[in-house]
Amino acid sequence: METLIEPKPVSEETAQGPAVENETLVIKDLSVTIDGKAILDNINLSIKKGEVHALMGPNGSGKSTLSYTLMGHPKYTVTSGEAIFKGVNMLDLPTDERARMGLFLGFQYPVSAPGVSMGNFLRMAVNSVKYNGNNGKRPLPIAKFHKIMKEKMAMLEMKDSFASRYLNDGFSGGEKKKAEILQMAMLEPEIAILDETDSGLDIDALKFVANGVNSMTGPNLGVLIITHYNRILDYIKPQFVHVLLNGRIVVSGGPDLAQTLEKQGYDEIKKNFE
Ligand code: ADP
Ligand code: MG
Repeated sequence: METLIEPKPVSEETAQGPAVENETLVIKDLSVTIDGKAILDNINLSIKKGEVHALMGPNGSGKSTLSYTLMGHPKYTVTSGEAIFKGVNMLDLPTDERARMGLFLGFQYPVSAPGVSMGNFLRMAVNSVKYNGNNGKRPLPIAKFHKIMKEKMAMLEMKDSFASRYLNDGFSGGEKKKAEILQMAMLEPEIAILDETDSGLDIDALKFVANGVNSMTGPNLGVLIITHYNRILDYIKPQFVHVLLNGRIVVSGGPDLAQTLEKQGYDEIKKNFE
């Protein structure tokens, strides 16, 4: 018989060591409601630059709620807690400021914008986030921007024609996720949250996404991979795995936790925490 995991609640012992200011996004005691309904309950999670974390959990557990809340979607009401990065509570900032501080969110369901080419969209995004004049950096000249975009696309092994297509318009599921990865590569965030970037992807698209993320990981990037399945974790190796259940992180552990979940499904954990 398989050995069953013994999930243990997140405690002082499993929490990570002291956060290094400027290097770590510290989510502290975060509770969130939607239309008055409690969704997230006292979430504590620290993501340090250089680390890769996975947040796993069944559908409806609140994974997307966490990512939308961190990005500042107006539908999500923060009832307690904070998300400190570089000494600032990002939850107090408008979304564009959060992006300028280095936060990136890859959406589970990216929106399309017929009439706006990928290239133009990315140029607006890059100028707004990185070269907005406020930080002393003027908007990039078009030629310079195109040079950078070509380099990033080459790094990701993308066809040049991708840049002239309309943003997500008629894109396959895989192409939409590729567009998200290209956007991330252009914005060079410090903390990236990828919400079910793997969902609905065939194996080639999944490998593309994983390779893209892996090519960007390093000491200057912290990643939170949000996923239902551990399939993507065969390609992107997290050092930390957390399980969200009914809006609470009920267990955290190392990479083997993802494997155990894969074998057992979420049932074993549910039995212990519901
Ligand atoms: P996950 O991403 O883990 O599948 P979600 O964060 O999308 O979970 O959803 C968590 C809970 O919040 C679910 O019960 C869902 O029905 C509810 N919820 C999510 N978004 C909304 C919304 N816009 N309006 C009302 N309820 C929502
Ligand atoms: Mg979701």
